[in-house]
Amino acid sequence: MTPRRPTRQVFVGAVPLGGEAPVVLQTMTAGYTHDVDACIAEVQKLARAGADIVRVAVPEKADTEALKHILPASPVPIVADVHFHFQRALEAIEAGVHKIRLNPGNIQDRKQVLRVIAACKERRIPIRVGVNEGGIVERRDKDTRAEEKATLTQDYAGGLIRLMIEKTEEYLRIFDEADYHDIVISAKSINPRIVIDAYTALSQRFDFPLHLGVTHAGPPETGRIRSITALGTLLANGIGDTIRISYAADPVYEVEDGKELLCCLGLRSRTEPELIACPACGRIEVDLYKLVTDVRHKLAEEKLPPLKLAVMGCVVNGPGECEGADVAIFAGRGKGIIYVQGEQKAIVTTDAMLDALIRECRDFAEKVARGEATLKNASVDIKPPDPLPRGDGSVPLRVMPIGR
Ligand code: SF4
Repeated sequence: MTPRRPTRQVFVGAVPLGGEAPVVLQTMTAGYTHDVDACIAEVQKLARAGADIVRVAVPEKADTEALKHILPASPVPIVADVHFHFQRALEAIEAGVHKIRLNPGNIQDRKQVLRVIAACKERRIPIRVGVNEGGIVERRDKDTRAEEKATLTQDYAGGLIRLMIEKTEEYLRIFDEADYHDIVISAKSINPRIVIDAYTALSQRFDFPLHLGVTHAGPPETGRIRSITALGTLLANGIGDTIRISYAADPVYEVEDGKELLCCLGLRSRTEPELIACPACGRIEVDLYKLVTDVRHKLAEEKLPPLKLAVMGCVVNGPGECEGADVAIFAGRGKGIIYVQGEQKAIVTTDAMLDALIRECRDFAEKVARGEATLKNASVDIKPPDPLPRGDGSVPLRVMPIGR
């Protein structure tokens, strides 16, 4: 991992963004902001899932009016997403919103942009400036539009990134003239390669915090790869101060996947158990996929610390493949062997595996709470148990992992 690129820091409510602050995970509500109760419920659900800040769209006056009810009920800072109507920005700021998402190019009159900037400056509210692919080409001035479209026709990716940089510079001049610097920049595209190149270019040019995202990524099934490829690459290169994964689905999936990405990169500490499972192979002697799904659902109902739990499909190779797991089950034909930090605890029948495993997790969590055990003991060494006999009484061949 490349060390994080140094940036300026802004505050979204009490949440620091940029500088030395941890990467901030954000998402956006999918429902109407003016539907106050539903919006509050959605914001609270997203905060419970792990979102650090939540953005809401405010296209109508009814939406900014709803903010006075939503803000006090929200456990996390709220960002108002403004397009076209500068009055919405002013109303949201007046309501006490914690950050504004603004595209100066979408607001016709420069004086109107300056009024929004002045209001944000007075209240120390940051503004995210977006030069995203969807709105980058000039819409009002015909000649400029034709010129910009021609640039994109010649070399789409290169031309788009050049436009993004130029427009960012143009917008930053407006902010600079107003002596306002609490800025976050985004340059989203639907194409992960463009996202990587665009943010890399921005990071070399500006020291404002960067909001990473792949726009219109699609449903989680396809958008996940698209988003994680781009955001994972950038974060591993030390680029990015806040992320939003965008899916055409319940935004809770965006938060769950964003959280997992940050945990995988060591940019956020886990607060829940980490499930490791083998992919299954020709040695499998149990319905592993069902067992893993059942374990995952059970874990979601439990309040457990971030222990490492391994579910492996055989008793022969499994132990060598899940070193470091706090709790592990090696499921064989008709039976499973449960280990807790390297120590064999129980041999249980297939029917009892799920409950026994969760029970061992709870017992282990209590030990951790009492200070009798520590989590994530990477040196846990699990010795392979003797192979369980197959149904016909024969003993499976012990297959050692490659490289051992
Ligand atoms: S743990 Fe056993 S069943 Fe699972 S992939 Fe490894 S060798 Fe195959």
